[in-house]
Amino acid sequence: MTLKLENVSAGYRRLEILHDINLSVAPGEIVSIIGANGAGKTTTLRTLAGLINPSKGKIFFHDADITRYRADQVVRSGLVHVAQDRALFGNLQVIENLHMGAFTRPTKTIQSSLEQVFELFPILKDRRTQIAGTMSGGQQQMLAIGRALMAQPKCLTLDEPSIGLAPNLVAQVLEAVSRIRETGVTVLIVEQNASQALAISDRAYVMESGSIVLEGTGQELSDSPEVRKAYLGM
Ligand code: ATP
Repeated sequence: MTLKLENVSAGYRRLEILHDINLSVAPGEIVSIIGANGAGKTTTLRTLAGLINPSKGKIFFHDADITRYRADQVVRSGLVHVAQDRALFGNLQVIENLHMGAFTRPTKTIQSSLEQVFELFPILKDRRTQIAGTMSGGQQQMLAIGRALMAQPKCLTLDEPSIGLAPNLVAQVLEAVSRIRETGVTVLIVEQNASQALAISDRAYVMESGSIVLEGTGQELSDSPEVRKAYLGM
């Protein structure tokens, strides 16, 4: 397994939000976590990113126990997080933001990653000197993903990349996620946009009140009456 959470509980101070989570992602998979607002999806990704310490359980990444890794150690191990708020350096140029993403790597090794990012998102090449904070929401999301790719991740975790985007941009961003996987990067994605997330996912988990309540292939969950009623509005 690329990534494995074993009986992980975590939360904020004494408030436990995640209860005994078991979740795994195999090499090269796209796995999604769907669920309502407040279900604990963001908390799960923040825990994986080393931003929250689990109170119980273990996290393994490529067989290494990363449960107690700090956020920078998690990035260096190849697990790279794209936060929901994108956390860009709004006053810096696109290209400067991309270089920031490669902070773990020697400068002379990053050119090929930069070319890969520009191939995936040509708009970032055209706008390389634009100040990041002045770009549209969709372009900023592409930049946030591009910056994460500059760290040369083995696995990317994406927190609601489609949030606040117009429908055609949602499709574009999710299509980019599929292409990223084709380059050999494993993806764990949190989405409220359940139908589109399931369509690109090999497998998915449904989270409710901090617990995993269902899991299956993207197709199985898309066909599940419970999922259709609760998350697909059918
Ligand atoms: P959303 O789609 O709204 O981001 P989510 O499934 O990602 O939902 P989380 O953001 O993980 O859910 O939130 C899970 C629970 O944790 C919620 O009840 C939320 O109020 C609580 N929570 C989130 N951040 C904090 C915090 N910093 N301190 C205390 N509680 C928090």
